[in-house]
Amino acid sequence: MVIKPKVRGFICTNAHPVGCAAAVKEQINYVQQHKPDAEGPKNVLVIGCSTGYGLASRITAAFGYGAKTLGICFEKAPTDRKTGTAGWYNTAAFHQEARSAGLYADTLNGDAFSDEMKNQVIDKIKADLGKVDLVIYSLASPRRTDPESGITYKSTLKPVGQAYTTKTYDTDKDKVHEVSLEPATDEEIAHTIKVMGGEDWERWLNALADADVLADGAKTTAYTYIGKELTWPIYGQATIGKAKEDLDRAAAAINSKHSELSVEAHVSSLKALVTQASSAIPVMPLYISLIYKVMKEEGTHEGCIEQIQGLFNECLYGDNPTLDEQNRYRMDGKETNDQTQAKIKALWDQTTQENFHQLSDYKGYNHEFLKLFGFDIDSVDYEQDVDPMVNW
Ligand code: NAD
Repeated sequence: MVIKPKVRGFICTNAHPVGCAAAVKEQINYVQQHKPDAEGPKNVLVIGCSTGYGLASRITAAFGYGAKTLGICFEKAPTDRKTGTAGWYNTAAFHQEARSAGLYADTLNGDAFSDEMKNQVIDKIKADLGKVDLVIYSLASPRRTDPESGITYKSTLKPVGQAYTTKTYDTDKDKVHEVSLEPATDEEIAHTIKVMGGEDWERWLNALADADVLADGAKTTAYTYIGKELTWPIYGQATIGKAKEDLDRAAAAINSKHSELSVEAHVSSLKALVTQASSAIPVMPLYISLIYKVMKEEGTHEGCIEQIQGLFNECLYGDNPTLDEQNRYRMDGKETNDQTQAKIKALWDQTTQENFHQLSDYKGYNHEFLKLFGFDIDSVDYEQDVDPMVNW
């Protein structure tokens, strides 16, 4: 099969196995060139391991610290007629690289919110790892079925309190236009917290501790985006931001509930980047295209792997972590500092349909977007026939 990108709206509906493998290898190379001296994790559970920040966490744990990694993801396998998802191919490539480096790697594909998955993972940890000493929580999902009530909740991306009108860039139509978003109802806010808040993170830690597969002194972190004024109305102070605030509550609850095991839970605030999750958020393609421009000019641009390698090195396993007043690890300072934000704001205010491509780094954004699905990578020959049937 010759595989070319099929982009529909903010998503690409297919993926290239060879391209995904090349992108995984590139991240592995980065981590191998930035190996830390410090001791790190040994047995790591990555919940949401197949793309974006979770994949970068798995790569850093394995290839930076030599850790055994067990991953969980929700990906589609390929068929004769349809490619697998990017996360499927990324996981296959990660397994191959890890195993040829002599590192344990296994992945369970299914719904991480379910109790069945938690039980399967516990059995796997007991059989293969004994206990885990690091749990990364990196899920991004539009819905969650609560295993206790059986109710399926959907998350919403809406402002809180009042309607909001702002600029956005429609990647499909190549158009800068205004978008008006009505404020969320109380129910929509509550449902978004159910999906993307801290409840499931807590349930994971409770399940692992109850099954005695959580090591003494284990660390755990869940990822958040805080941002600044430009994104607050649609992110930080919006429905998703309310859900992310709930992560702060959950981190404190995990620390207190599992204090006998000396569990250390932190929320980690990371920078805005192109991932499958962020490209679905209104305003983000425009905002990220502008920060790419500014941060590349400043020499501070980072991708998932640089952010996560830094998080492990400086915060999770470093002596001098940057913590904020909420006890969160902060890796977003190069984006959120006032000087950089002022430059982004100046560009934002000037941006029109006519000058968008000159003012922004949309070329860089689009390249990163296609790369998420294994496309637009120089070393890959996209005219070649490739077999989509890649297995783990
Ligand atoms: P992503 O879409 O690249 O990754 C999501 C992962 O979750 C994938 O591995 C997917 O398979 C898995 N997943 C989704 N639903 C699942 C389910 N029901 N069961 C099992 N696995 C499931 O997203 P990302 O951007 O890397 O986001 C990860 C976390 O980082 C999120 O909490 C997000 O809010 C946060 N974050 C993202 C950004 C950003 O700019 N992308 C910035 C800061 C923080």
